[in-house]
Amino acid sequence: MTKIDYQRATFLQSAAKLSQLPADRGIEVAVVGRSNAGKSSVLNQLTQNSKLARVSKTPGRTQLINLFGLDTNRRLVDLPGYGYAKVSAALKADWQETLAEYLSDRECLKGLILVMDIRHPLTEFDLNLLDWAMGSDLAVHILLNKADKLSFGAMKDTMRKVSQAIAEMSNEVTCQAFSAIKGTGVKELKEQLDAWYNSPLVGEFEQNKE
Ligand code: GDP
Repeated sequence: MTKIDYQRATFLQSAAKLSQLPADRGIEVAVVGRSNAGKSSVLNQLTQNSKLARVSKTPGRTQLINLFGLDTNRRLVDLPGYGYAKVSAALKADWQETLAEYLSDRECLKGLILVMDIRHPLTEFDLNLLDWAMGSDLAVHILLNKADKLSFGAMKDTMRKVSQAIAEMSNEVTCQAFSAIKGTGVKELKEQLDAWYNSPLVGEFEQNKE
């Protein structure tokens, strides 16, 4: 299995709508989370690149999908949450539609990293996303972030509750405790990502024919 070097992630492009995305080829893994769950910090920790997450920070402004290249075939996709107070209801609805469409139609999308604050897991935002992912039979790996904020016992308790909730779902859903600040759980996260990035590349056959 190829181990991906996540420190090699480089900014590729932003897209405000799906039509602006690059060709639906290779493998994408998307990261999403309600604002303030720590998605930027997770990206920072994974790539060891603070500039990357800064690119991704667009609070209250136009919602953009940010794409980062890991190699020629593999991309990490930063999907903004829509929890920003300053965004109007109409914009939020628009954004939800784009997000749902991306999750259901993007063929090269192999998995979704869903970042939650371990102190407030499974919010309405998270449940919506899990629902869409289940509808598209898309695999989801949940990061229960900010685990450093809880005692070991409370962390285990939340893990158990979330594990129970996701056991009911028909798609492949896994979860782990994580701390973007302390770096706890990075190895497990990379193992999940590596597994997804080592699946067959979408469009490889057509590419080889060209
Ligand atoms: P985003 O809005 O989801 O991108 O969240 P940020 O990455 O900006 O993080 C929101 C806040 O949570 C910041 O103040 C971070 O320092 C803090 N934060 C993020 N991850 C962790 C973590 O693992 N532990 C703790 N204690 N704080 C965190």
